[in-house]
Amino acid sequence: MSWLSISPDSDFSIHNLPFGIFSTASQPEPRVGVAIGDQIIDMAFTADMNIFDPFIPYHWRRDVFWQNNLNEFIRMGRPVWQHVRSVLQAELTNPDSVLRQVIEYVLIPQADATMHLPVQIGDYTDFYSSIDHASNVGKMFRDPANALLPNWRHLPVGYHGRASSVVVSGTSIKRPKGQRLPKGDIQPVFETSQRLDFELETAFIVGKDTSLGTSLTTADFDEHVFGMVLLNDWSARDIQQWEYVPLGPFLGKSFGTSISPWVVTMEALAPFRVPGYVQEPAPLTYLEEVSPLPNLDVHLTVSLTPETGGELVISRSNQRYLYWSQAQQLAHHTVNGCNIRVGDLMASGTISGPNRSSWGSLLELSWGGAEPITLASGETRTFLEDGDTVTFRGYAEKDGIRVGFGSVSGQIVS
Ligand code: CA
Repeated sequence: MSWLSISPDSDFSIHNLPFGIFSTASQPEPRVGVAIGDQIIDMAFTADMNIFDPFIPYHWRRDVFWQNNLNEFIRMGRPVWQHVRSVLQAELTNPDSVLRQVIEYVLIPQADATMHLPVQIGDYTDFYSSIDHASNVGKMFRDPANALLPNWRHLPVGYHGRASSVVVSGTSIKRPKGQRLPKGDIQPVFETSQRLDFELETAFIVGKDTSLGTSLTTADFDEHVFGMVLLNDWSARDIQQWEYVPLGPFLGKSFGTSISPWVVTMEALAPFRVPGYVQEPAPLTYLEEVSPLPNLDVHLTVSLTPETGGELVISRSNQRYLYWSQAQQLAHHTVNGCNIRVGDLMASGTISGPNRSSWGSLLELSWGGAEPITLASGETRTFLEDGDTVTFRGYAEKDGIRVGFGSVSGQIVS
């Protein structure tokens, strides 16, 4: 289809065209790029060629691609996102495209680029929307017979996270120090976390501001959400377990959160929509889902690579295991009139499926540390060791069309 050669198993097919921020050694200013195959389209250079001009809305600014984050581009709104996407698809399939004539300037090998945080994140929210994850945690820490707390089936539980410590894939994560309560003691100790974990999540990025006092409905999702990334909500379980009562997660979470560098647009993910859970009891009216296909069929994997090498996939999950849809999360987040802003990051919560092979954290996979897992090297793990690298990958595939996220990874350092 394209005059570019793109491997059929590439996450970054012509159907995807995710946006990110990159720089190169020869041109170190971070700028907007679009991933295609193993290359990056330099959008700053592309816009200077006027290819978007015949159709541009009046408020277009060409320098929107000469930015170190996507916020200005996102702020231009959904018709612009759609327009840029369709122009790129047309140019990449037109054998006479002007892009082809200047290919050495337009295309940058991904291997030569440094990726940066794609958006300036004002606020970061983390939900708790997988019923299997919430049930597993409830069984471990509370009551196996009443794993879900009474509110869980009535609202998408969430908390406000920390935006300043969200980092791009490839950034090392320093093992945090903090308080924990040794088993059976009443006096806490201060030390480095011994129960460091990952949480397999995705997140959506807000694409349109609202004003304080405004509430969105589930029908507003498409206009108000730009795209999605993979997200690792690194978690220090020992710190978390001692501190979380009664206000929820704090320092056990805020030491680092990793996201993948390419923002896959909701437009690109649209063909992979699937039905959601049957919700019992039916949610209150403001949480009613208007879409018959509120979930997404996105395959997710977690792999663990110890410092000695030998990467092993330790979990295979799917975005479709979310009980509460992203549109319901958005409606709930704004139902009290809380305003949201372009670039806000809203994470799913750990996405665990019904089977052990699909659980999205070591807390679950090792059942609270009681049942170690074995790695490719023969080493075992209950929680993460220094030198371990955790990598999430995600992709959707249907009718020969593949749209993927690439990966998010991070190594634990002392
Ligand atoms: Ca989480």
